[in-house]
Amino acid sequence: MLLGELSDELGSRTRALETLKWLFAQRPLPTSLPDAVPGVSQKVWSAFRARGGLTLPQVKERQVSSDGTTKYALDFGGTLVETVRIPTERRSTICVSSQAGCSRRCVFCATKELGFHRQLKAEEIVAQYLVARAEAPPEAPARNVVFMGMGEPFDNLDEVMRAVEVLTQAPAPQLKATSVTVSTSGVLPGMRRFLAESSASLALSLNATTDAQREQLMPHNKTWPIAALLGELQQDTRPHREHFIEYVLFDRVNDTDADADRLVALMKPLRARVNLIPHNPFPGSPLKAPSDERLRQFHARVVAKGQLCLVRWPRGREIAAACGQLVLANSAQGFETPRSAV
Ligand code: SAH
Repeated sequence: MLLGELSDELGSRTRALETLKWLFAQRPLPTSLPDAVPGVSQKVWSAFRARGGLTLPQVKERQVSSDGTTKYALDFGGTLVETVRIPTERRSTICVSSQAGCSRRCVFCATKELGFHRQLKAEEIVAQYLVARAEAPPEAPARNVVFMGMGEPFDNLDEVMRAVEVLTQAPAPQLKATSVTVSTSGVLPGMRRFLAESSASLALSLNATTDAQREQLMPHNKTWPIAALLGELQQDTRPHREHFIEYVLFDRVNDTDADADRLVALMKPLRARVNLIPHNPFPGSPLKAPSDERLRQFHARVVAKGQLCLVRWPRGREIAAACGQLVLANSAQGFETPRSAV
């Protein structure tokens, strides 16, 4: 709940603040609301508790990769969703899903194989963060959230905006708005509203430098072509804001010198950082990652022209937790109904 709503429910802002502080201090996570919360009168709390509970999923499966990246299969009343915790030395990043499945048809992404199952509610998105956060090592607290799990966040805009608000609200978890990044495959109306209303960060999955090339990879580029997407970023009037441009590299598809040069030219009018991601394989994928050498050459060429650019080497690849690999591959169940082939 947003602080204002919880204040209304509990009849005071102080009680709402105490409740949120309590919730985000719990480790391990409680499975239900407790009988009492310090700072909240028993009568008010009991009445509140009778009206609702915690939307926490069951952890169906937990896979840990050798680099510590952990993939969770979470069960929300029969709907399975994947969430990934990625630890680095000083902080952990939680990668959350915004939909169960996805209705976009990006040819390089495993999640499309699932089709679209349903939208996730804001509370289910926040719950993914809560579950993964509770298991982050103390020296690497969960300070970052990226909406780069299953689904297209801007096809579920209201719930995603609400989840961002909850994640950034005081007193807890109070993530910095710039530490919450919503990644989109380029759904223009959603981008427009997000840039106007949210102070969180935006990542655009560009993945190609010409419309012809991008349409092959991401069919909805026909509706929202590259110039329109980048034009929207250019018009972002929020001060000091940088955007992230994701560029997945595919062997012999978008990894030539000409691609690198076009990418730099497209970035020129923007305040943007480019993240290069080598394609992560999945069974049946028609595409391959370039060699590491080719990737380094591409990176060097972009950087040499003055463009900020990092290579995002994959984390958790061997447990299929890296970008574009989330497909519930190791779950016996797949989605709730008979889609057990998934
Ligand atoms: N739908 C959103 C968020 C989920 S995908 C989006 O498209 O941005 C998160 C990131 O993973 C995107 O940048 C996407 O381009 C990238 N991605 C998808 N499939 C991939 C794959 N097989 N290998 C590497 N990156 C992939």
